[in-house]
Amino acid sequence: MIARRALVVELPSVDCDILRLQALTNLAYRYKELKICPEDLPRTACTMLYKKNFNLEFGTKPKRWFARQWLPMTVLRIQDGARRGDGGAPLVLNLDRGVMRLRSICRAEAPIPRWVYDRIEEGGDIVFAMLGLKDGIPAVMLVAERSVEPYKPESLLPVDVNSWKHGVVWALIKGGRIVSEGRERPDLRFIDNLYRKSVRLEELHGRLVRIGVNSDKLDVEAQHAKSKLYRYLRDYPQWLASKIARKALKHKSKVVIDRALEESWRDLLEEGLTRSEAKIQMTGVRRFIKILETQLRWHGVPYEFRRLPSRVCPNCEVEMEELPGRLMKCSKCGLEENRDRIPILWALRLLRK
Ligand SMILES: [Zn+2]
Repeated sequence: MIARRALVVELPSVDCDILRLQALTNLAYRYKELKICPEDLPRTACTMLYKKNFNLEFGTKPKRWFARQWLPMTVLRIQDGARRGDGGAPLVLNLDRGVMRLRSICRAEAPIPRWVYDRIEEGGDIVFAMLGLKDGIPAVMLVAERSVEPYKPESLLPVDVNSWKHGVVWALIKGGRIVSEGRERPDLRFIDNLYRKSVRLEELHGRLVRIGVNSDKLDVEAQHAKSKLYRYLRDYPQWLASKIARKALKHKSKVVIDRALEESWRDLLEEGLTRSEAKIQMTGVRRFIKILETQLRWHGVPYEFRRLPSRVCPNCEVEMEELPGRLMKCSKCGLEENRDRIPILWALRLLRK
């Protein structure tokens, strides 16, 4: 199985028209036979787009006309004095010197991020890259590839994904019993404070504007709080996915991911959160699942997506009664458990079968 991971590195100082390259890449997808190569285009760019037997994956086919398509590029790697890959590649990674360099199509230089060395150490390699714009800034997407076979699992790691408010609940099941378990969530107070701050400042700013008072400073402060919040919610999923992938790897677990996103969204609204409050509690949850899946594939961790019941008794399979405080109670066997733990008990039961 081939697993891939990607990292985007910004290269603000690049010296070519990336928009144009992206437009040509879009055309190349659509009309491979046509070979649209403007005369002033560096030949290497054309080679990258129309090379015969080009075994690069072009990512996904552009859905729209004029969608900005990233230009695929081969990569030359230099490590311990030896060269791997296409000698004429537009991207050179000199791992000995720690420098990556664009040439032929565009010129730019940047330090090689730690991420590249980590992936190579894990048995991967940077086999291709793409050039494009990310949020308007020129960037190279480095794509690491690794051939890996999933191992034979020795334990089970169910992961029940909810909103951040209720967190990501996991358990390690070994030898038919739960040996450890936990609930992971970001710092909810930190999130709440930043969110309230940005809302308060925005309201105040709006009021002052209406009575003709300049309050740009308040607006800047509000945006600052907001971007700090989103930055935090962007980094947390990455951190958590790594943590869970490492745990699975350490215990040779099979991961069972239960994503109850719609249910989580409904719960938040039922609990009285406004839509925008609920939105914050779900920000990055989907991304967490995506990063987790990528990392599990990369490390050869077997995994599956599976819905595990959270309202049905794992002992007697009858619908449970919901008590205040997310407690569930079975009227038949008397089991009383936090709702987020019911899926874990189901995973335990399914393993015993
Ligand atoms: Zn029961």
